[in-house]
Amino acid sequence: MNNLSYKSLLSSLPAVHKIQKLPEVQNMISRLGNSLVLSKIREVQKELRENLISENEFYKIDIDIFLSKLRNKISEIDNDLLRPVFNLTGTVIHTNFGRSILPLKAIQEVKLISENPSNLEYDVLKTKRGNRDDHINDMLCEITGAEACTIVNNNAAAVILVLNSLAKRKEVLVSRGELIEIGGSFRLPEIMTSANCKLKEVGTTNRTHIEDFESEIKKQTGLILKAHTSNFVVKGFTSNINHKDLAKLSKRHGLPFMVDLGSGSLIDLKLLGLPRESMPKEVLSNGADIITFSGDKLVGGPQCGIILGKKDLIDKINKNPLKRALRCDKMTIAAFASILKLYNDTDKAVKEIPTLRMLNRKKKEIYDTAKRVFKDINTQLKKIAKVEIVDCKSQIGSGSLPVELIPSCAIKIRMNSNKHLSKLYTEFRKLPIPVIGRIHDNSILFDLRCLEDESQFLSQLKKLNLKIFEIK
Ligand SMILES: *Cc1c(COP(=O)(O)O)cnc(C)c1O
Repeated sequence: MNNLSYKSLLSSLPAVHKIQKLPEVQNMISRLGNSLVLSKIREVQKELRENLISENEFYKIDIDIFLSKLRNKISEIDNDLLRPVFNLTGTVIHTNFGRSILPLKAIQEVKLISENPSNLEYDVLKTKRGNRDDHINDMLCEITGAEACTIVNNNAAAVILVLNSLAKRKEVLVSRGELIEIGGSFRLPEIMTSANCKLKEVGTTNRTHIEDFESEIKKQTGLILKAHTSNFVVKGFTSNINHKDLAKLSKRHGLPFMVDLGSGSLIDLKLLGLPRESMPKEVLSNGADIITFSGDKLVGGPQCGIILGKKDLIDKINKNPLKRALRCDKMTIAAFASILKLYNDTDKAVKEIPTLRMLNRKKKEIYDTAKRVFKDINTQLKKIAKVEIVDCKSQIGSGSLPVELIPSCAIKIRMNSNKHLSKLYTEFRKLPIPVIGRIHDNSILFDLRCLEDESQFLSQLKKLNLKIFEIK
């Protein structure tokens, strides 16, 4: 290429200020801010210039070429922005989707406390320093029958804090059967290391007897831990014996007995027609000295880690400098306090706490939802896909529970080719509120257990880009 044409090509690059003035770009700026969009415009310009200079490309740059490159960059940013999705996977408590969603009351409480100074750490009557845990302590102890409690950022933090406070530089006995199943995101050996404890595995993978524990208790033993595992089904009586025996053994040797419940439930799951899980109250009355569980699993609240148990142990935990580092922020405390209030009335809790409400939805009710949304989806897709209502199974989720399947209903979408199916599923995920389901049996399945806002779901259907399926 001679110098002249090269120059003229370079000069065809649209100017930044021109690009900035385009209505579409103005729209990007109003959403994402000027400096971010400007830096993306400059990036595009640099790339286009470099392409020209490297002579790999030999064409005039017009605004359309520029814009299409900019759009790609902006859509990458948009994709990364935190935003709502429709969780139609059928897994109710899904870590990838933020686990529990909050009831309106809790959100209003968070708003109020975030907008104003509050008595977070101040005793208004005594005009002296207060404790942020005070806003939840009485209610939590009342519901669970615990002597004392505290909360931290999440259950992993709770476990680390307890271990570090009660068994630092000592051995923690754990049944081998409880180690392997805890899963990738929460590995007990690593947690032990972070807590500065030494993991001592006891027994075999499938059988651990009380004698196995007894024979491992040495002077360097600091604590006995029982961890709830995902496929470890607690059958009331057996588990009681287990907890009770371990509790007795610990007591005899003056060791704290800790239970990591993972997903402690504050109501009897039988009320929701689900299999029983041992509740914090029972585990404590069976002799556990300290228990921990998540706030955003079956409790249905904000992300936090709940620690309950003997007062002297909780005092020790609260004195650990790590507690200061792992403490909850005021928004969490506001939300959690408001959730705890709902638990004063079980019916109210099940109605108002979304996690419990969605777990409680009966198949008939979900089928009615399916019938209501089917019509619009089918109208929209009937030219390209076969849409039907099918039975399916939802699951509770959150790892720590036995994988229990609950009868539910789904919209099933099939197409003549899997490639098309996968493209259609992508279009669902490109909607303003991405719709996430699952691919099963060469079909898209949208489990409707967690669909509560039907009108919002339906209103964006017409935005589905189905042009890609038009025969050219
Ligand atoms: C989920 C879970 C954890 C981790 O809790 P987070 O709230 O995610 O930190 C720890 N232990 C068990 C048994 C769990 O199920």
